[in-house]
Amino acid sequence: MGQARRTGDGRACHRGMTTSDRKATRLICSLTASDAKSMRADMLAAAKAGADAVECRLDYLRPIPDAVALKALLAGHRVDVIATCRAPRQGGQFAGSESQRLDVLRHAAKAGATFVDVEDDVPVADWPKGRVICSFHDMAGRPDDLGSIARRLDASPAEVNKLAVVAGGPEDALAALEVLRACRKPTIALAMGEAGAASRILARKFCAVGTFASLHPGAESAAGQFTLQEMRELVRWDSLSPATSVYGVIGCPVAHSMSPAIHNAAFTAAGLDAVYVPLLIQPGEGHFRRFMDALVARPWLDWRGLSVTIPHKENALAYVGAGNCDGLARQIGAVNTITLRPDGLRGDNTDYSAALEAMCVAMGIRREALAASHLAVLGAGGVARAIVAGLRHYRAEVTVYNRTVARAEALGREFACHAAGLADIANTTAEILIHCTPIGMHPKVDACPLATIPPQVKVVFDAIYNPPRTRLLEMAETAGCKTVSGVEMFVNQAVAQYQAWTGRPAPRQVMRDVVLARLADR
Ligand code: NAP
Repeated sequence: MGQARRTGDGRACHRGMTTSDRKATRLICSLTASDAKSMRADMLAAAKAGADAVECRLDYLRPIPDAVALKALLAGHRVDVIATCRAPRQGGQFAGSESQRLDVLRHAAKAGATFVDVEDDVPVADWPKGRVICSFHDMAGRPDDLGSIARRLDASPAEVNKLAVVAGGPEDALAALEVLRACRKPTIALAMGEAGAASRILARKFCAVGTFASLHPGAESAAGQFTLQEMRELVRWDSLSPATSVYGVIGCPVAHSMSPAIHNAAFTAAGLDAVYVPLLIQPGEGHFRRFMDALVARPWLDWRGLSVTIPHKENALAYVGAGNCDGLARQIGAVNTITLRPDGLRGDNTDYSAALEAMCVAMGIRREALAASHLAVLGAGGVARAIVAGLRHYRAEVTVYNRTVARAEALGREFACHAAGLADIANTTAEILIHCTPIGMHPKVDACPLATIPPQVKVVFDAIYNPPRTRLLEMAETAGCKTVSGVEMFVNQAVAQYQAWTGRPAPRQVMRDVVLARLADR
């Protein structure tokens, strides 16, 4: 059966589930077609798309397949086949009785399925030897006693263990990965749902027997499954290894985030054995803390860095501790970059430096030269706050214009700058204008925060990156101003994170191309 290799921390790592054992952790495409002909076609399509194995979800088939139908379905299969037939109590669709369900699995085994997946409450004694996956499912959450469940699965006569729970937060994905380390037998362990994504992606690093993916969007057999294409292209499944370093982005929502695409493309371009995963954490300091505690307690994860986005930047500062953060992150009150170092956590804010860098490069000046400039900042939210803190750090003169004047005044008091209402921008004496409201952002791309560009303004920087060219920037260009797109700030902050984590120069052009390609797709 499976051979052993070594994880990053030198532990033995089991893999393989077939006698051929030709590959490491399998990318298993779960097939959910409702008729046998389509499922057979999907088996071929999955193999063509790079799946190492397929899971035939026989419970999706209508009518219930008999021995003849299963023989036709499984004849001459090119990749390993797992036959699964789940009852509704375990998240399945099977419409018949329990004895009919078990008959379907027996027929599938006779028809040549490589493995049959039998739930842990079904006695496995009379199943074909060496071809049984004993599976445990919790469709309501993650039980506290995963360790004892893992020991129970290990004690069954089945060849392979499978454990699937529902993730409340990404800490449950980490608990599933711990099961992979704890089990003596080849094992699949995953946390379902979007919050469990890390358990699916990191399965290969921790030498699971396999991880499940769907053939295309909408064909998932369980919540949180990526498509085969996403697994192979977005998270670079084929290049993952036990030595892979791990990074991720914390946010809510996080599914829309471009960061996994940007950082994974950068790792590929630089030839780094690293992967970047999305981490959905619900709002609230308690949720953030629960995940971070679970992460810090598991150094064997090889986790090196985290991007932090809305709504957790303040929670990140509180967790890392002001003493471990850069001075401006403390002043801004927000951390968007956490680095896990051997001596502890470090917090940084790359937002302000990304914005300043974008402007200074466009203007061909050093940051210190900002001391001689007067800048108008439109908006007083999170981005404006980071930029104002950065500008004041370099002693620039700043006036904040905001719809809610009291908010501009509060920022003005805190960072010793001027404050005014939005209407006053028409009379600004500033030469550089920085726009930090969402006006003009996708999908309302025709909106513009200003009727005209104030006469003194020579440079306009719009923090909005979607679209890359806003109405405001078009208007500024027509007025003869130098313009800077929010795309530059967006790329700069990712570049700064990459450099903080890896200590290497980032492949900036690759990262920029990913952002522009993704924005063009939207
Ligand atoms: P935020 O904290 O919600 O602040 C929004 C600001 O916009 C507030 O000052 C708010 O004024 C003002 N505002 C909102 N709607 C308005 C309206 N209809 N009319 C006038 N003022 C309005 O948002 P944020 O996090 O600072 O983000 C601001 C923008 O920055 C985002 O929309 C995004 O496009 C951009 N951004 C860019 C990057 C990048 O890397 N390039 C990163 C993050 C964000 P009140 O105080 O009166 O509510």
